[in-house]
Amino acid sequence: SSSHSFPSPSDFTSPSVSCSLAQICRQFLACSAAPPLKSKTKPNGKKPPAKRRSSIWSSKIDLNEWLASNTTTFFNLINLQYSTISEFCTGETCQAMTACNTIYYWYDEKGKKTKCTAPQYVDFVMSLCQKLVTDEEIFPTKYGKEFPNSFESLVKKICRYLFHVLAHLYWAHFKETVALDLQGHLNTLYAHFIVFIREFNLVDPKETCIMDDLSEILCSPAPQPAPTPSAPASTSSPSAQNHVTER
Ligand SMILES: [Zn+2]
Repeated sequence: SSSHSFPSPSDFTSPSVSCSLAQICRQFLACSAAPPLKSKTKPNGKKPPAKRRSSIWSSKIDLNEWLASNTTTFFNLINLQYSTISEFCTGETCQAMTACNTIYYWYDEKGKKTKCTAPQYVDFVMSLCQKLVTDEEIFPTKYGKEFPNSFESLVKKICRYLFHVLAHLYWAHFKETVALDLQGHLNTLYAHFIVFIREFNLVDPKETCIMDDLSEILCSPAPQPAPTPSAPASTSSPSAQNHVTER
């Protein structure tokens, strides 16, 4: 009855990965079967706090708890999704962390800009996220333990990096994802992630604009009549294609 076709273990090189992926994605879909956002507010628009509470997040749940639980889930699912194609993302195939016409550079703890390959960048992202979400001082799990003042900015940082990984998956590894029949998982994961980060303004729209075309298709409540010419189309002109953005 479901329109999502879950892969059979034989489609994978590693059966254990496929089982856990299908299992987790099923659970995720079952848990997050919330209706799409009804708000017509643009991602860069301002939404009154009272209104945004009506869509997904219930004010009965502590906001930080909600952010923590979703951020941790997205980290795990995006890590898993990347792992399905990681054998194709090498220092040779992906010499830089690219998405569209953007190259992402890693900034180390001292703020030093580092050029690295995509697998190195993803490894930095996943290691940092793992470190943060398992840090009891930042993502407390014990009852009565307070979230730190830096919590929201750290959640934003994690979400920004996770967005880079999703963008790279689409721009560099969509063919391999389709070959594994995992595009349904990727699209569902992406749509949920975009709805989440828009809901709480977690990632700057200047970062996410390279994916706006896809976001509109996957996240709009209803089919759009026609794309608006005023939309920031990053790939529409050849000059835009040739322009490389550094982040
Ligand atoms: Zn890659």
